[in-house]
Amino acid sequence: MTDSQLLFLVLWLLYLAECWVWVRNGGTAFSGWGLRAGGWATAGALPGNAKGGILILNPLPPLGEVFLAEMPQFTLSPDELRRGGIEHLDRPAAGGPDAASRSLDRIRQVSHAGRDLRLDGKLFATLADEAEAGRWSALLTRLLPLPPAARAPLIRHQFRESLDADAAARRLEECRRDSRLLRGLCNLLWLWLFFIPPLVAWRVGLSHAFATALGGTLLLAWGAILPVWLRKHRARLPELREARFTEGLKMALFPPAAVRALDVLLARAMSGFHPLAVAAAVLPAAAFAGFARRVLADLEQPLPLPGALEAAAVWHREALREEVRRFLKKRGLNPESLLAPPAATDPGCTQYCPRCQTLYTELARTCPDCLDLGLAPLPGAGKKPGFAGKSARE
Ligand SMILES: [Zn+2]
Repeated sequence: MTDSQLLFLVLWLLYLAECWVWVRNGGTAFSGWGLRAGGWATAGALPGNAKGGILILNPLPPLGEVFLAEMPQFTLSPDELRRGGIEHLDRPAAGGPDAASRSLDRIRQVSHAGRDLRLDGKLFATLADEAEAGRWSALLTRLLPLPPAARAPLIRHQFRESLDADAAARRLEECRRDSRLLRGLCNLLWLWLFFIPPLVAWRVGLSHAFATALGGTLLLAWGAILPVWLRKHRARLPELREARFTEGLKMALFPPAAVRALDVLLARAMSGFHPLAVAAAVLPAAAFAGFARRVLADLEQPLPLPGALEAAAVWHREALREEVRRFLKKRGLNPESLLAPPAATDPGCTQYCPRCQTLYTELARTCPDCLDLGLAPLPGAGKKPGFAGKSARE
């Protein structure tokens, strides 16, 4: 391999090292590109560690789009705020949920600095982004002076707003319309980096190829993508100063990273919406129904975690479940049909897990995948002799 080929290889590898996004625990990534069929993946389904997973993005034009959405990271009732949400599409990491809690009546002051949410001046939690910290700070500031009975409708309203699929669809449309120029520039930079130089090298010579690659990259990255990206990021995500600084600096120091400018702009563009609302806006109908089933089953059949039956968790779950059911009906989905038992495809299976819908034989007592949740009898089981289907567990 010649020195110039080696240089291009290094450039490719450095570029590929930029083609990923970190999905925090409790988060879901939605996209039409680079994911499993259906276009969504939870953090737990991705390779990673106890804090989240890495989603590899499509490195080739026409460069896809990825949106991140997270379940609320707090349990909230009219009386109490608890660290750690009630929704778990994945099994929580070992060690169980972090459940520090505060009575709302005892909190005197709420503030936020960057991604940190502070109660009475002390750090309570670090959120996914500055906008999320600001939203929670504003909601709690409104709740604190009210008596518990007056807090409940405000919290329910907050749940309903986070599930506003029409607003999510509008924001998605705006983001896509707004990022057309940036998408075009990013694709152009990709072509300039990885397609044009080999052509020039083949026709004119290697030294010209380097000059072309370098000149075009600097012109496009510094002269076009970075200013456009900064303007869009400031307009769409004004609170996200930390990301704007670090990502902007990265693009300035390593111009090929500017090819991924669109990911940095879109990934957090749907921040503030419940993943279900983002799913309704982003996913095709069949994939949305599958995701909705997971969310609903989690609310109806929660994992038997410590604290799951405490008053705040029960209130939060009940209020959210009501809003989610209303949301699904409005989208034309019947919650009962979504939760219906799976088809009895194997005559040996007489039970199923009402949460993950895995089929079990009569010997099983609990579902190990769902932290030993109890099983339910499978209607019509064993009535179809000789019918081979989904493999069963004992
Ligand atoms: Zn299960």
